[in-house]
Amino acid sequence: MGRASRDKRDIYYRKAKEEGWRARSAFKLLQIDEEFNILEGVKRVVDLCAAPGSWSQVLSRKLYLPLKLSTDSKDSDLPLIVAIDLQPMAPIEGVIQVQGDITNARTAEVVIRHFDGCKADLVVCDGAPDVTGLHDMDEFVQSQLILAGLTIVTHILKEGGKFIAKIFRGKDTSLLYCQLKLFFTDVTFAKPKSSRNSSIEAFAVCENYSPPEGFNEKDLHRLLEKVGSPSGVDDLDCSSGWLEGPNKVYIPFLACGDLSGYDSDRSYPLPKTAEGTYQSLDPVQPPIAPPYKRALEMKKASGQGIRDFEKLSLDS
Ligand code: SAM
Repeated sequence: MGRASRDKRDIYYRKAKEEGWRARSAFKLLQIDEEFNILEGVKRVVDLCAAPGSWSQVLSRKLYLPLKLSTDSKDSDLPLIVAIDLQPMAPIEGVIQVQGDITNARTAEVVIRHFDGCKADLVVCDGAPDVTGLHDMDEFVQSQLILAGLTIVTHILKEGGKFIAKIFRGKDTSLLYCQLKLFFTDVTFAKPKSSRNSSIEAFAVCENYSPPEGFNEKDLHRLLEKVGSPSGVDDLDCSSGWLEGPNKVYIPFLACGDLSGYDSDRSYPLPKTAEGTYQSLDPVQPPIAPPYKRALEMKKASGQGIRDFEKLSLDS
């Protein structure tokens, strides 16, 4: 699809470039914040699966830059923002970057070192595997990322802190909700207006971190496995959609983003410039080392090979 036609079909893609966001996902975090005020009072935050960095940009613009630019604030007032991703990310002011795998225990240790023994007020995770289109498979891999995110949370989030995680809604959504409820008193599944209705994506907004009494981070996997088993923590088989009466689980599900805001499933006409033509903008920050880089290089090299061959044939 050409850039101009994507500009027309995807209003948030176009707006992201106009406002200098690296990805349209920035609007998702902004709309979640509008609804839940997740950034209020935050001094330490971790952005898991952060590349290309639009959520980190939101954190920098909302938490770091206002203080950095204020003449009354001292360096010690500045918030600490740590961003982690498998991929390298172009720098963002006020954001410490760690290149690593969130499923690896060492990644949590690196973050803890940056926080100097203090705990985070907020952890956000927009992690997504490369989607295969096989919903069951995508949902499973996504749930593994959430589990990795939750494991890091149990090490670095302060009591009362918040955790925002991308989820894929599917048949195990109720189970995921029950698992998150073991650690947070309030869990809501949110669908920002900038997230297309056609996408199974939503965000778990988990507030007030309060792990079960006597909880040991090393027991996380065992604890999660207990939910849904007969000897489970509260004997709730949340994975069964057919449960009735008091056992039935109703997941709080909330749309967020101004109702008069842009609809991500609609196409909008392109605005005309003074000359009467529309100028499509370049991406704000193209990925610096995307996983498909090698494929592009190979394609380019083989294209070159074909051109050399054609030239040779014509010359001969
Ligand atoms: N929030 C980002 C933004 O606003 O720019 C977009 C995140 S993108 C949807 C998903 C990211 O998850 C990718 O950059 C990918 O590299 C990262 N990711 C997937 N699995 C990961 C893992 N195990 N550890 C760290 N990052 C991972």
